Amino acid sequence: MKFSFRRLTLAASFAAVFAIATLALIAVSSVVAQQTPTTTTSSMPAARDEKLYQQALKLHRASIVIDGHNDITSPMTDKDYDLATPSVGKYHTDIARMKQGGLSAQFFSIYVGNEFVKQGHATSRAMDLIDVVYRAAEKYPNDFLMAFSVADIRRAKKANKIAALMGIENGAAIDNSLKTLREFYRLGIRYMTLTHNFNNDWADSGRDTAKHNGLSDFGKEVVREMNRLGMMIDVSHVSDKTMSDVLDITKPPVIASHSSARALANHPRNIPDDLLKRIAQNGGVVMVNFYPTFIDQKVYDADKARTERLKPQYAAIRETYKDNPARIEEEIDKLDAANPLPETPLSVLIDHIEHIAKVAGVDHVGLGSDFDGVPTLPNGMKDIAQLPNITYELLDRGFSEKDVKKILGENLLRVMADNERIARASSKTISGDGSLRKLEVVK
Ligand SMILES: [Zn+2]
Repeated sequence: MKFSFRRLTLAASFAAVFAIATLALIAVSSVVAQQTPTTTTSSMPAARDEKLYQQALKLHRASIVIDGHNDITSPMTDKDYDLATPSVGKYHTDIARMKQGGLSAQFFSIYVGNEFVKQGHATSRAMDLIDVVYRAAEKYPNDFLMAFSVADIRRAKKANKIAALMGIENGAAIDNSLKTLREFYRLGIRYMTLTHNFNNDWADSGRDTAKHNGLSDFGKEVVREMNRLGMMIDVSHVSDKTMSDVLDITKPPVIASHSSARALANHPRNIPDDLLKRIAQNGGVVMVNFYPTFIDQKVYDADKARTERLKPQYAAIRETYKDNPARIEEEIDKLDAANPLPETPLSVLIDHIEHIAKVAGVDHVGLGSDFDGVPTLPNGMKDIAQLPNITYELLDRGFSEKDVKKILGENLLRVMADNERIARASSKTISGDGSLRKLEVVK
């Protein structure tokens, strides 16, 4: 979640290389723009086929629809946001719109930002977000069912409720302790994204300078313990080498809870084709992220250029409101809103789904919106209520109903079931013969 260039603290040398690369990119793209005749193919979406749309709605409602990643938990925790309060225009998610979107199961992100890691509060931050999910489910028992297994998700669907699941975003939350990892499993965490945008003490992030050459020995132990517990390994955010290391050792299939295809947009948060193929061999699923800066090369380039251009203004805001982090966020959002990026059509998002289905296979693609973790979204996918548009677009592109159901949720259910089965076969209890190891890090 919560990514934007301006919020990343980059090492000065990296920033310089980055700036040069950006300038080179701008130069190249302007040359290309001058030489390429303009086309208008993507500017006007075709009129909706009503009959197909009704078919899509029917299919969507009958399917188990799973979203791999939603960050609404952060405002629920920090701003006391109540999910039952309609929040159109403010947040991407509220209960009414989750229902409108035909959502069957939501993985709520237990996102632990780097500021909490630095303060030594990573574990308790995760606890706060877990608490907020349970409280929402307890307050609205007619809408939510806390879910910890494939069987729970199917039960929720039958009861016409939304299954509420939790995934930790940032392995730093376990405080380098396998005991804490097990406690999170006991609390109901069913996947963990190994890193966020920064390395932790045992795994490299895709957005940081490599430190462990992928997974450290302890990182490998974390993966094995997650396998033993049946907690899915999430390879979103990690470096390519970390991903490759995970795929070398994991027994059950992995997920990427919110990542797209790098072949279509050259962003480090996306997954290159060779790793997409390896995830397919592993039996895993890549749940496509909806964020325009990740999926649309044009927007990615414009975002980088804007960050460069507005650098002095960002610095001034940070200085003026240095004692008020919330205000900094607000003012920067205002400034960005006054300097909008190009819009992204829904077709770009569907292109990523189609690409992953082609390269990895239709059994290995799913949905991981990143709603409420990103500031902008493609047209036609502005909030969680619009999820049925994906079903319509996939049918329109010729995907069979069976394949659409796989993408909407059945693929994730298969991966989760494999994790459950392999964990049960390897260990009868959560404690099992689990390692008591804790990594001591001298800072
Ligand atoms: Zn994220």
